[in-house]
Order: sequence, then structure tokens, then C-alpha cells
Amino acid sequence: MSPDCFRSPGACESDQWCQLEDRESWAETDNTTRGRCVSYQQLCHSCTRAASDPSSAMGLPVQSKTLLAALSVATPSRSFLSVEDTSPTFGQYLERPTLCASGLVCTGGLIPTVPATCVLERPVGGVDTPAVVQVTSALLLDYGQRWLRMGARTAYDARVGAGLDDQLPQGASREDIHAAVNTIFSVLWPTHLLGPWPGDMQLSNAGPDAPLCCNWNNYTDSLSSFQSERQGASWRNPMHPANRKTGNAPPCVWCEWDGAYNDENPTIWSTLHALTFNLPDEISEAQYSVLRSVPVFLRQHLSCSLCRSHIKEHLIDLGVPTSRRGIDWAYYFWRAHNFVNEQSEVTRCGSMDCQWGSWNSPADATLCSGVYRYPWFMDWSVANKMWMHTPRH
Ligand SMILES: Cc1cc2nc3c(=O)[nH]c(=O)nc-3n(C[C@H](O)[C@H](O)[C@H](O)COP(=O)(O)OP(=O)(O)OC[C@H]3O[C@@H](n4cnc5c(N)ncnc54)[C@H](O)[C@@H]3O)c2cc1C
Repeated sequence: MSPDCFRSPGACESDQWCQLEDRESWAETDNTTRGRCVSYQQLCHSCTRAASDPSSAMGLPVQSKTLLAALSVATPSRSFLSVEDTSPTFGQYLERPTLCASGLVCTGGLIPTVPATCVLERPVGGVDTPAVVQVTSALLLDYGQRWLRMGARTAYDARVGAGLDDQLPQGASREDIHAAVNTIFSVLWPTHLLGPWPGDMQLSNAGPDAPLCCNWNNYTDSLSSFQSERQGASWRNPMHPANRKTGNAPPCVWCEWDGAYNDENPTIWSTLHALTFNLPDEISEAQYSVLRSVPVFLRQHLSCSLCRSHIKEHLIDLGVPTSRRGIDWAYYFWRAHNFVNEQSEVTRCGSMDCQWGSWNSPADATLCSGVYRYPWFMDWSVANKMWMHTPRH
């Protein structure tokens, strides 16, 4: 029999928490509240995403960012969760909340293909994993260079000797892509943070800011032997992205192939987070229209064909918001990114290409949806700190 941790606080073991249960009684001498010591759930176990978690609050009508900000900075209590949070109406099964152990996070209902499961969080904040991205004009304009090179579909049509200026139209003209990208950036540009939109972006293929082609010697020579031995320019390392030797391969352009950047995918995500986490509280109609069109734009113009083929599942079927609140758009792309993270090749295979086959999946990966090559879930509060620059008042 578990001790009553309501009447005897501190009675639970260190790997347990106190779950409170209430029952109605008119008898004044009755103990109407009882505390039960419940063990934390371990990796792979099922769980309840606590109501005190700001992400679960997103399903509720959040009146203002004040509330959201308060929730995101609040330290969720790990010792108390009322059964009322999940209590059924009379005649239904009683569901008891369960909490993940320290270091784990519950996916709740956020990932459509995964039941609520305790998973490892993707760590940030170490030497090679910045916890805060400084969103500056220079950074966004650099991201923009990747967007301008999107829409490159025929990756298997090598043109020997092609250079930076030789990207072909593939479906849409280059001019149309450039016009669309400039519209997206100019309409979503965080003017309150960075001042006015600096004007239409052009490809910088010459001068000191020009990228290198991924097959040029001066690029391949710059890779560490670790990066070269793995996938060269395709190598990504989500655990230590900035490590010079083992981290992500530096940017380059697949000049002889589709003309896209090697880091187009992560840069698309980074742009979407940097822009949506810094939207105004109430977005304009122009911003609303652009945001609504982004998933369709990606479905048509992402250079990664596998990713493009999943856009309907990963972004559109997730429910493109119909909200005019900036925070709802930040939440949507945060959630979509986690959905993609859960099943991306990098997460599962430790590589940008599972067929490359250098890494085996962990032995127990097929037993449970909580075991992956790399931790992939980024919690809402972590994403907030990473991307949001305006204090939410
Ligand atoms: C729209 C889209 C769809 C894609 N679909 C697929 C697919 O179907 N299959 C596939 O294998 N790959 C897919 N990718 C690629 C994949 O998502 C990664 O971009 C790629 O694996 C590189 O991973 P990364 O770890 O280097 O960085 P990324 O996961 O791209 O992350 C970029 C940055 O965002 C941060 N971040 C990570 N998660 C979150 C989050 N939830 N919220 C806020 N910030 C976060 C990271 O710390 C990093 O700073 C897709 C990419 C895009 C843009």
C-alpha cells in the first residue's frame, strides 16, 4: 500500500511523484483528498502530457501572449498533477495521468503517428549546440540565399562543369521563384525587431559572400576527414551541429545537380521559426495569406523530393492554421518540425540518406517508437527560447 503523500508530504521515493485524488463527501471527518505515490514513466513508456505544459495549453483559448509567456517560463511542477486534469465524466473509464522521468518528455498528442510516449529531448545549449539563435538581418538574408535556390527538382540530371550561375528552371521559372521568395520574406519580415525590409534579395554568386560549389576542390578540401568519410557536403550532425570536425558540413551549392544548397532543409526550418516566432500578436491579412500559402509553396518547390512528397502528411494534414494570432503560426511550424524530426532520415539513420547504410539503427528501435538514432523532440519552451526575440507582453 502506497503511503498517503497528501497527508505525509515527502513520503514518495525519489523516482516517484504524488498523484492527488479527490472524492466528494459531506462527512467532515472524511479524508477527501488522498495522495498516491506513482513511479515516473521511463523511455518508451506511455505518458500524459501535463496540463501545466504550455504546449497542451495551446489547445485551449489562450487570451493573450501574457498568459502564454507566463506558461512558458513557469517551471512545471514535477511533484503534483491532479487526477482532475484527465478525469472522465461519470460512466467512462478513469484515466490516470502518468509523467515521464527527468530528462524525458511526453509527446502527448502532438505527433499524429506516435502514441503519447516518453522520448528523449534533443539537447541544446552545449558548446556546439546554440540554445539561442541571434536573428539578425544578415542571418535572414543569408537564409534567403537558400530560398532563392529552391525549386530544383531534377537531382539526377548531372551537368558536368555547371557552376553557380547555371541553375535551370524546373517547373517554375527562376524569376517566379525569386519573386515568390521575396514576397514571403518582405511580408513576414520582423520590422519591429530588424527595421524595414531591406529590399528584394538577389543571388550573390560573386564576391566574398559567394558560396562554393560542393564539388569544387576548395570546398572538399575544407571538410574534415570525419565529414569526408561520412557524406561530405551532405553530412549533418544534430547533436553537435557547430563542431568544426564532426559537425554539419559547411554550406555549398550542388552546382552540377539541382543547383540547390546542401543546407536548404535546415535553413527552411530556421527561417520559418525565426519569422513566425517573431510575428506580431495580431498578423495582417497579407501575412495571413502568405503564411497560408507557405505549405503549398514547400510542397511545390522544396528541392528534397522525399521531403516534398511528405508535405501533405507532415504540414497540410496537420491543419494549416486559420488563425490571425502570430503565436499560433509559430506553434504550427514548431509542431510540424517535430513531426518531421520524428521520422527524418537523420533521426532514424544518423545520416541524410538511410540507403547509405553506414549506420545501423539501434537494436531496440523496432520495438518502441521511443528509441531512435538521435533524440528528436524539441519542447515548446526550448523552441521559444531559441527563436523568439521579442519579449511577449
Ligand atoms: C518542410 C520540410 C520537410 C521535410 N521533410 C523531410 C522528410 O519527410 N524526411 C526527411 O528525412 N527529412 C525531411 N526534411 C529534412 C529534415 O527536417 C531536416 O531539415 C534535416 O534532416 C536536417 O536536420 P538537422 O538536424 O540538421 O536540422 P533541422 O532539424 O532541419 O533543424 C534546423 C534548426 O531548427 C532547430 N529545431 C529542431 N526542431 C525544432 C522544432 N521543433 N522547433 C523549432 N526549432 C527546431 C534545430 O535545433 C536547428 O537549429 C524536411 C525539411 C523541411 C524543411
